[in-house]
Amino acid sequence: MHQLTRQFIDNQWVESAGRRRLAVTDPYRQETFAEVTAGDPADVDAAVTAARRALPAWQALGGTRRAAYLSAFAEALAARRDELMRLSSRNNGKALAEAGVDLDDAIACYRYYAARAADLEARQGRRVDHGAEGIRAQVYEDPVGVVGLITPWNFPLVTSAWKIAPALAAGCTIVFKPSEVTPLPEQALAEIAAASDLPAGVLNLVHGDGDGIGAPLTVHPGVDKLSFTGSNAVGEKVMRAAAEGVRNISLELGGKSPILVLDDADVERAADWVMAGIYFNSGQVCSATSRLIVHEALAESLYAALGERLDAIRLGDPLADETDMGPMTSSRQREAVERYLAVAGEEGLVAVRDARHRRLPARGEFVAPTLYRDVPVESRLWREEIFGPVLCGRSVSSDEAAIELANASPFGLAATVIAGDVERARRVGRALRAGSIWVNSEQLVLPEAGWGGFGISGIGRELGPWGLAEYLEVKHLIGPAD
Ligand code: NAD
Repeated sequence: MHQLTRQFIDNQWVESAGRRRLAVTDPYRQETFAEVTAGDPADVDAAVTAARRALPAWQALGGTRRAAYLSAFAEALAARRDELMRLSSRNNGKALAEAGVDLDDAIACYRYYAARAADLEARQGRRVDHGAEGIRAQVYEDPVGVVGLITPWNFPLVTSAWKIAPALAAGCTIVFKPSEVTPLPEQALAEIAAASDLPAGVLNLVHGDGDGIGAPLTVHPGVDKLSFTGSNAVGEKVMRAAAEGVRNISLELGGKSPILVLDDADVERAADWVMAGIYFNSGQVCSATSRLIVHEALAESLYAALGERLDAIRLGDPLADETDMGPMTSSRQREAVERYLAVAGEEGLVAVRDARHRRLPARGEFVAPTLYRDVPVESRLWREEIFGPVLCGRSVSSDEAAIELANASPFGLAATVIAGDVERARRVGRALRAGSIWVNSEQLVLPEAGWGGFGISGIGRELGPWGLAEYLEVKHLIGPAD
């Protein structure tokens, strides 16, 4: 059994004074396979102090030299790819291929921000174009400072890479609290930092749950910025904590994203995209396209095609090559999804497929992949993020009605448009309120393109130049040219 008893602070493995044990479970075998000793608020304090001490030298090092550390991080992760995929699959219940996506996207992100760190140095002090004669204005971008990073369990390596990589590139120093549900893949980051010559205090990792470590980190006055990915309920708490001392904040929160199937779509291809949008990672994806909005002319044939595909999904051991879908990551998440299925029963929703249509594996935190049709807009299942393999569909009679229904949500993380005519799909996509809109594709994430939500899906953007800007303060020097 893995035993993680230490926190990584100031390049030292620190035995935590707190003796609170957190069990890490394998959701397929339903057994505890690791134990983490949580840190305590004194560890948070030590980590923030170390990060603050490390900040001036890390900033002064410059983007080009910081880039070398980021590249080394990417290569160290790539060298451990197979081992980390299996660990992540076991800890998270992800099918192996899904664990590969988590890891490969994380590696791509470290590589991308290595290049952006070098660009940052090249553009420091550039002249600002203006019309004022005899005046020189120059712009610099400084790191925000010490950043507190908090991540969820669904894509542990990617959600942390989207924060750690740009923060390091910008010259920030870090106190990182991974999810207590999936601490094992994240521990690798501390091991990589420990094995590299990353300066002491630049990256600190403290394990623990939300109340024990997350909350103390958010209220710590030595933290200049908080970047949080997780649920809306906790995101609101983090935002309240950041108000104290007017601290900078980025939030990546939940979603209830629509997928629009227009009436010129090829039904078989559309069905493939619909499946990829909701059943990937057992539906535990913030950007899952969980509201299907289909033109009424295609509805019957699309539901038939989806039913066939749902029957073909192979549930099972996430480590087995033939498995398409693993269990939910925790019993807690399975129970949360089952509560929604109970509500669906009370509301009398019509299931195209649900638990009655298949036998679940004998063990594991499984939820049957489920599809409801003609779901009323008042239904809680239509409105709320379920974070499981549950798709809700409705039919419409025009593109305008599809756009209106898609936008009638306080969330705005992602959306998908499927059509035969790609220009028509782009026109409809342009009218949607969401940060990422996939056109005849699904869940495509590019390190160069921003990620983040409209409305209650969050504040700020990750990835691309926008993701770097979240960790920078812009500063102008203005005065006589000579
Ligand atoms: P969660 O909000 O329960 O936990 C997220 C993190 O916050 C964990 O590390 C947790 O320990 C910590 N935390 C809990 N209480 C805290 C507190 N009071 N103060 C500080 N930290 C605290 O979310 P989860 O269940 O781990 O993840 C699922 C959620 O994450 C979903 O809503 C999903 O949509 C969202 N998510 C969003 C994105 C995105 O990019 N927008 C990506 C992945 C997941």
